Amino acid sequence: MNRSKAGGAGPASGAAARPATRPAFPAQIPGLTSQPAARSAAGAQVAKSGSAGKYGATPAAAPAPQGGGLDSEAVRLALVRRLVAQGLQHPAVERAMATVPRHRFVDSALASQAYEDISLPIGLGQTISQPTIVARMLELLCTGRPLPLGRVLEVGTGCGYQAALLSLLCHEVYSIERLRGLHERARENLRELRLPNLHLLLGDGMAGYPAGAPYAGIVAAAAGPELPGAWLEQLAIGGRLVAPTELSPGQQHLVLIERTAQGLSRQVLDAVRFVPLKSGLG
Ligand code: SAH
Repeated sequence: MNRSKAGGAGPASGAAARPATRPAFPAQIPGLTSQPAARSAAGAQVAKSGSAGKYGATPAAAPAPQGGGLDSEAVRLALVRRLVAQGLQHPAVERAMATVPRHRFVDSALASQAYEDISLPIGLGQTISQPTIVARMLELLCTGRPLPLGRVLEVGTGCGYQAALLSLLCHEVYSIERLRGLHERARENLRELRLPNLHLLLGDGMAGYPAGAPYAGIVAAAAGPELPGAWLEQLAIGGRLVAPTELSPGQQHLVLIERTAQGLSRQVLDAVRFVPLKSGLG
């Protein structure tokens, strides 16, 4: 397993040798605004009126981002407002989504679509998930739990977008990708954001990442026919696992697993469509 620091900044650290001091929360993302959390909190406090139910509405098309500064922030906040109108309720998830510049994680030819509520291709046959689904999964991970969460494992780094969001919600994030091309692209995408608590790993996430276990949360961005045993084993007591699972051929659902002192509980939630979980390196 290869491990690299997102953005390549900061001293090497990892699960085996955890840093003595925890990074500040929320992490600052330079180059966006002087106080991203505060600004986005204001943006996210928009009226929840007109709610069309939990993520149920079809969103209006977003205006295109005009560059990387305040204009892109305006379209990003407009997206967050639509997510809130569709049922997103968790303030920290709202803030994170208002902070992370999704357009920097997709090809520049697709940047104008980055704040529409759609999945987009990220190369090598993979996709960045639809913002609605990303928000839903993060909310399932965070709701009712003190933030920041402890250590969290993401399986399927892809372009690194969801990993950046997780880094704003968790103390430490380990994100594994099996395709070297995407692992490297994610590192590039994340370089400028300088998120010292985000660790990118190249490997087969079906084995989890035992060196970082136990995890307060595990989130997968690819669907297999069942949940790998390693993920269940690496979940801490009190931890949650959120993963798309193909419970019958062609039928995927989000599955939420919680580990308590008594054992594991399982809920089958929304119908979804994710790329397949594959074993080995690509
Ligand atoms: N969260 C990502 C979504 C990426 S799509 C984002 O924000 O962009 C899902 C990713 O899971 C793909 O990049 C795919 O290569 C990866 N994947 C599939 N099976 C995997 C495995 N066993 N281990 C690690 N990554 C895997």
